[in-house]
Formats: sequence, structure tokens, C-alpha cells
Amino acid sequence: MSFKVQGWCPGALRPMQSSDGLVVRVRPLAGRLTQAQAAGIARAAQAYGNGLIDLSGRANAQLRGVSPDTHPALIADLTALELIDLDIAAETRRNIIVTPFADAATYALAETLQSALADAPELPGKFGFVLDCGAAPVMTDTPADIRIERAPDGRLLLRPAGCDLGAPVAEAASAAIALAEWFVRAGGVVDGRGRMAQLIATGARPDGALTPRCAPAASLPRPEPGLTPHGPLVEVEFGQMSARTLDALSVLGAIRVTPWRMVLIEGLTAMPDLPDLPGLITRPHDPRHRVFACTGAPGCPQAVGPTRDLARALAPRLSPGRTLHVSGCAKGCAWPARADLTLVATPEGFDLVRGGRASDAPALRQLSPTDLNDLPEFS
Ligand code: SF4
Repeated sequence: MSFKVQGWCPGALRPMQSSDGLVVRVRPLAGRLTQAQAAGIARAAQAYGNGLIDLSGRANAQLRGVSPDTHPALIADLTALELIDLDIAAETRRNIIVTPFADAATYALAETLQSALADAPELPGKFGFVLDCGAAPVMTDTPADIRIERAPDGRLLLRPAGCDLGAPVAEAASAAIALAEWFVRAGGVVDGRGRMAQLIATGARPDGALTPRCAPAASLPRPEPGLTPHGPLVEVEFGQMSARTLDALSVLGAIRVTPWRMVLIEGLTAMPDLPDLPGLITRPHDPRHRVFACTGAPGCPQAVGPTRDLARALAPRLSPGRTLHVSGCAKGCAWPARADLTLVATPEGFDLVRGGRASDAPALRQLSPTDLNDLPEFS
């Protein structure tokens, strides 16, 4: 296995170099884009990038193909749209994912937490918060260090990653900062790195008002594309859409970005007549809903081979209910969990992992396109 693990998360002010140019990650405040912001991102992606926008697993929008020459003008446009933080430090700290099923109180909590983070101790670059405060958690498979959820009786709970229990809290934002301070005091940061789950695994526990003692409400499975009480959830194939698609969606309503390759369009009570654009998934039984593929070659510098054309071709041949992950290398960015079938690019063809992750030992190695065609799973 050979791939590079970054100790920091890219942002807009600190973009990441990829093979197709800079990747500029926009973190919408509380995961929500007004119609003007969504349309503005679409315009900017077209003007300053290659017109492609990724939805990241951290519920961010990433503009691809930006050059160092166009980056300053892009930041100026995004600043005018109120999508840019004051500096890299503030951008890095604002690592908060908010449930797309948020109510006004949850949005207020997200704003309070964002402000309070200015006074938090220095935290590792990937340290993040999830505000999953609907009636039941829906984001338990989204990694985070500190989670705000609800107990069955409706109280807010503050739950450190790695703990099954959380602490009931009245002032969730200040309590979350107190938990972050405990994480630092308890030795959670070593050489600028560290995650809450690692610290909890050592047996360390917060005490006093932060003592984990209450179970959250039973979680719900990851939502599927289709209508929800908050509006329709629309998925984009492989989590990537064109500027034209985002512009068309922005006309329908404000957009809530999710960590699930989907956007929720606010305020609609029926599935809209979506424009005839490629890559939109609106029904859970669409086979592309169960297929994951990372950027792969040539867009990712670590990729050993291309991914998405193969994934697109195999999707209709996948048995109902089965999941397929096509990965450009063993890092497995597109789907860190297990899949029924995982194809991992190697210099000699694709390795096949059955029922595992991209980094797991393959059942079959060095499969050619003909070999893949002959697999019983795709017959
Ligand atoms: S899994 Fe895909 S996107 Fe991630 S590093 Fe490997 S090739 Fe790149």
C-alpha cells in the first residue's frame, strides 16, 4: 500500500494541488448555500476552474482545475459571496458539519459554535465537529471528533468520538469548546496531530459536567435520494457535478450540502422537475446510488489508473442492493467503508476485494477489462 496521508485539510485560502490544477474547497456556513451563493459558485467554477464541482465527504463544495493565476480573482468573488474566512487559521478551525435536516435552533447553534471556535485552543488540522441534532442522528458514519446529538428525551448531548455515551448539555457550543480544551489538556495532540477517538481508546474520559453518561437516540440509516420533510435530496453521480448543474439547482431553492454526495433543495414539497442534466440521481434504486469512484487518473496525482468510466459501465450490471467501489489506489477516498465489491487500480490491472475496503487484501489480482467482464458478479 503506498499513498500519501495529508495531516491537514485543504480549504479555499489554502488549496490543494491536484493533477488537474488547484482544488479549492469552499466550506458553506452551516452547510447551507443561499441561491445567490450557489449560483455564484457555479459562475466562479466556470470562470476560474475547469467547471467541475465536487461534493466532499465533509459536506463542502470543491472547485477543481483552478490555477495560481485565477485563484486570487476566485477568492475575491467568493469573498463577495460571504463564503471566505478571515484567514487560513479561521478557515481550518471552521470544520463543522451540520445535518441537512437542521432547524433554526441548530443553525443558531452552528453560528455560535463557529464564533466560539475563535477562542478554542489550537487543534489538529482535521479536528472536526458534527451537529447531528435532529430527532435521531443520521450522520454517525461521518467522521468527527465531537458530536452534538439528542438524547431520546430531546436534550442535547455532547458526545466525544469513540464514546457510546454523551453528556447532556444546556449550552452546547461552550460545552463543545470545553470538550476540545479537555482533549488538548488530556494529551490528545502529539506533534500537531491527534483525534478524539484515539484519545478515548486510551481510556481517558472527560469528567464533571462533560462526563459521558447518556445514550443518544437510536440512529437512522444514511438517507437516500428522494423527497424528505425538509425538501428533496438529489444525488450527483460520484459526488461531482458541472457548474451548469449547480446553476440549474440553484434556481430551485437554497441548497444544503451533505456529506453523502447529495444536496437538499430547501422549501420544495415535491420532487421537482429537474433539468435534463447528466449525473443527477433522484431515486434510491438507481444503481449509480450504490457505486462509488474517486477522481482517479488523471485528476489525482496518487492515482494508478482511471476509475469513473469503468464504474459507470459496471453500474447497470451490479445486482440489486450490492455496492461497488472503484478506487484509483488503495487509499479508498471515495468510500472508506466496506463495499460488496472493491476494484483497486494497480499498475498491472485491477485488484478485487470482496466485502472489504480498498486497503484490504484482494481476493483476485491484476484483472484486465476482459477479466472484469467475465466476473460472475457482473454477469
Ligand atoms: S483513492 Fe483515488 S482520490 Fe484518493 S488518493 Fe487514491 S487515486 Fe487519489
